[in-house]
Amino acid sequence: MAVESPTVESLKKEIAALKKQRGAVIMGHYYQTADIQDIADYIGDSLALARIAADIKEKVIVMCGVHFMGETAKILCPDKIVLEPDSEAGCSLADSCPAEEFKKFVEAHPDHTVISYVNTSAAVKALTDVVVTSGNAKEIVDTFDKDAKIIFGPDRNLGNYINSVTGRSMLLWDGACHVHEKFSVEKTAQLKAQHPDAKVLVHPECTNPLRLLADCIGSTAVLLKYAVESSADKFIVATESGILHQMRSKCPEKTFIPAPPSDSTCACNECAYMKLNTLEKLRNCLRDMAPEVTVDSHIAQKARKPIEKMLELSSKK
Ligand code: SF4
Repeated sequence: MAVESPTVESLKKEIAALKKQRGAVIMGHYYQTADIQDIADYIGDSLALARIAADIKEKVIVMCGVHFMGETAKILCPDKIVLEPDSEAGCSLADSCPAEEFKKFVEAHPDHTVISYVNTSAAVKALTDVVVTSGNAKEIVDTFDKDAKIIFGPDRNLGNYINSVTGRSMLLWDGACHVHEKFSVEKTAQLKAQHPDAKVLVHPECTNPLRLLADCIGSTAVLLKYAVESSADKFIVATESGILHQMRSKCPEKTFIPAPPSDSTCACNECAYMKLNTLEKLRNCLRDMAPEVTVDSHIAQKARKPIEKMLELSSKK
């Protein structure tokens, strides 16, 4: 006899009961599926989730995002149990910066301050002076002298963008996110021509030609705020399509059009890693208390300092 799949409603009930039983809190990134965003206790970008994790009271954190986010939570809260629904949920950007290679790069430039994007492994953070997110990178880079020698890794697009808005020449690691690099400039320009009244919202992990089409460049939180506060009623959105759920929920009267990727007939652009998490896996991880995120204590100790430095330097606006 075929086993029936649980319904979304029954899964949500099970998750709520298990969450209570385990004393857990569910944190979700804006790129998660809509059903996970709807059940999360906290939803946000990497900066918001790191800030919340630093102050969390519950003893179990379920991080619905990708692995480096779970690691960041574990580094900030070593005494808590951090769970992730799918341990295979990695990140192409973090993978583009292996710690051993980055270490050689850093050692070749001993007089440089090392600034790393939060989308890195704990081992790369351990080689870093200050961590940044797309939401605070400019603000934090601006705290350094204009002529300071800086290594910025691993995202070359975000690094180029920060160089352009701060007038600096930071040394960039040559990494990138496969999702944000794949938006089609041509198709996005065509969409803009079809919808001349639409504002174009672009994440800084996108390439420079795409950023040139933008009315607003910023982190997911910045793009969301712009969409909510703008008097425009139509937007073309160039970041992972999970953010559209929040935009449409907060502005049901406005129209949001996903910017298309270049290599597919699909209209929107999804992160396959973020989308590995499902309600069923979320239920399973609370039921089994696994997979649990662990970070080597020696690495965690070193990686904690640059994350705390970020929280200290970054304003809460
Ligand atoms: S969207 Fe890009 S940067 Fe974000 S988790 Fe996916 S691969 Fe990593």
